[in-house]
Amino acid sequence: METFSSQIQKLIEELAALPGIGAKSAQRLAFYIINMPKENVTKLADTLVTVRNNIQYCKHCYNLTDSEVCPICGNGKRNHRVIMVVENPRDLAAYEKTGKFEGVYHVLHGAISPMLGIGPADIKLKELMVRLQEDVDEVIIATNSSLEGETTAMYISKLIKPTGIKVSRIASGVPVGGDLEYIDEVTLLRALEGRVEL
Ligand code: ZN
Repeated sequence: METFSSQIQKLIEELAALPGIGAKSAQRLAFYIINMPKENVTKLADTLVTVRNNIQYCKHCYNLTDSEVCPICGNGKRNHRVIMVVENPRDLAAYEKTGKFEGVYHVLHGAISPMLGIGPADIKLKELMVRLQEDVDEVIIATNSSLEGETTAMYISKLIKPTGIKVSRIASGVPVGGDLEYIDEVTLLRALEGRVEL
C-alpha cells in the first residue's frame, strides 16, 4: 500500500530526480512545498517555467543567458582578446567569483571523453575556433584536471597552436580530479596566475 496519495508521491519522485536530493530530502521538500502559501508555490512554479523557456546560450561564449549576448560578453570593459575556456557555466561562475579575471569566456558544455563516447564534435569546440578568427591574444584553457579535462586541453592546444595564438593552461594548483566549482577562490586565482604556456 502506498503511504501517500499518488499526487504527493509524484511530487516526491520528481524532486528526488534532482541532483543531490535523496529520498528523505525529497520528502521534506515536498511537504514544505505543500505547506507553502499557494501564491508562493505559483511564483516558484512560474519562475521555473520562465527560466527554462527564456534561457539560451550566449551567441559568443555559450554561457547561459536570458538575452542574445551574456552580461560578460556585453561588457565593453572586459578584455575580449583573452578567452578562458571552461567546461560548463558552473566553472565560469567559479572564476567570476574571484573577481580577478578581466577577459571573456568560452563554455564548451562538456569535455572530450572517449570512454563516454563524447568526441570533439559533441562540445562547443568548432564554435571556439570560429571565435579565434577574430583578434585574440591568448586562450587560457581552464578545463578540469580530470582525465577528460586534460584530454580536452591537449586537443584544444593542438588545434590552436598552428594559428599562432598564445595558448596556456591553468596551473596544477587545482587538485587532480577536482571539480572547479568546489575549489576555493584563492586556489583558482593561484591556478590562473600560475598558468603555463603550452
Ligand atoms: Zn557571452
